[in-house]
Amino acid sequence: MRPPLPRTGAAWTDLKARMADYAAGDVAWRDGRTAVYVFNAGPEVEQVQKEAYALFQSENGLGPVAFPSLKRMEDDVVGFALSLLHAPDEAAGNITSGGTDSITMALKAARDFARKARGVTGPANIVIPRSAHPAFDKACALMEIEVRRIALVDFLADPAAMATAADAATVMIVGSAPNFPYGLMDPIAALSDLAIARDLWLHVDACVGGFIAPFVRMNGAAIAPFDFELAGVRSMSADLHKYGYCAKGASTVLFRSEELRRFMVFDFKDWPGGRMVTPTLAGTRPGGAISAAWAVMNFLGVAGYREKQALVTDARATIAAGVEALGFTVLGAPQLGILAFTRADVDCVALWARLRERGWFTGVTTEPKSLHLMLSPIHAQVAHAYLADLAWALETVQGAAAPEARYS
Ligand SMILES: *Cc1c(COP(=O)(O)O)cnc(C)c1O
Repeated sequence: MRPPLPRTGAAWTDLKARMADYAAGDVAWRDGRTAVYVFNAGPEVEQVQKEAYALFQSENGLGPVAFPSLKRMEDDVVGFALSLLHAPDEAAGNITSGGTDSITMALKAARDFARKARGVTGPANIVIPRSAHPAFDKACALMEIEVRRIALVDFLADPAAMATAADAATVMIVGSAPNFPYGLMDPIAALSDLAIARDLWLHVDACVGGFIAPFVRMNGAAIAPFDFELAGVRSMSADLHKYGYCAKGASTVLFRSEELRRFMVFDFKDWPGGRMVTPTLAGTRPGGAISAAWAVMNFLGVAGYREKQALVTDARATIAAGVEALGFTVLGAPQLGILAFTRADVDCVALWARLRERGWFTGVTTEPKSLHLMLSPIHAQVAHAYLADLAWALETVQGAAAPEARYS
């Protein structure tokens, strides 16, 4: 039944208790047994997020003249992202509400650029690897652009096949750094070569990698070039609310030049409300998401991020070795915080369901059916507990009928 708005207000203490009650049915992510949806960098970072968010939660990023504070914090955060990702001096960007917003707006810019620079005024298309995020399909649905999803080779984008699929109406090609289903870095250098050779717009989707890969590299891992250091990369998306450990509702969309960024901006004045200039999909932009991002990034600094991301990669290495000892195969060679692993002789979705009984809420990958983990610093503390429960689940599932699983 549809509940009506209560006739009179309730006391805040009562409401707080009721919300805590509602939350009792949620995953207990603070204990580290959730490896999807939440990025858990510990209680200190959570506190900084919360307090910094509250300080500017009523302020509106739509009004940079009224709130120069938010403009300043946005410029700082975008600057941090651009320098981490080797952007040239003339590069520019904005904070958006999330990866989907960043991808949608990058595509809007690329489409408008193609209209102007290459005369693509008829039906347009984009060429993306099969593992690219559905945000590209959503953006293309909105803009009536055809999506050409190209089969992977060894779970990675296939630049040769993408070259064949691209044509004069291709307004964007995409590589992921890393992709979500496998946590693997696409061959961005080869895609960059393709982009340069054919004058195509390459977008690197670093939504889940942009704020971890640079620090993992600083920590000593051999991460291949994937960002603006490759000349063919024209735009990138990097989510603050993922491995940036910022409050939710914050991502960055970045362009090689201010000139390219301008194709994103919507500037409108043909109505009685006066001129409205909005860089991203949003009108009103929550000040709290911007201030929380600014505060968390300054709170952690390079040293803090390196430390947090080392915990993530330690957890990943421990779990990768542990699952291989249990007879699983890790898909590809993940270097960051996501891994997927499978065993041909067991139903991984059934395993997922058994692990859920022990409090683990994780992900699955479907091609092939695999278990999927998106790890946070907290998981360094529970990696061995996970492996023990995985061994238990494996024993109970082997030979047993598969239970029904609902994972989304
Ligand atoms: C999370 C993610 C997105 C979408 O970001 P949202 O913030 O969920 O909208 C896009 N691409 C990749 C690779 C992602 O992991």
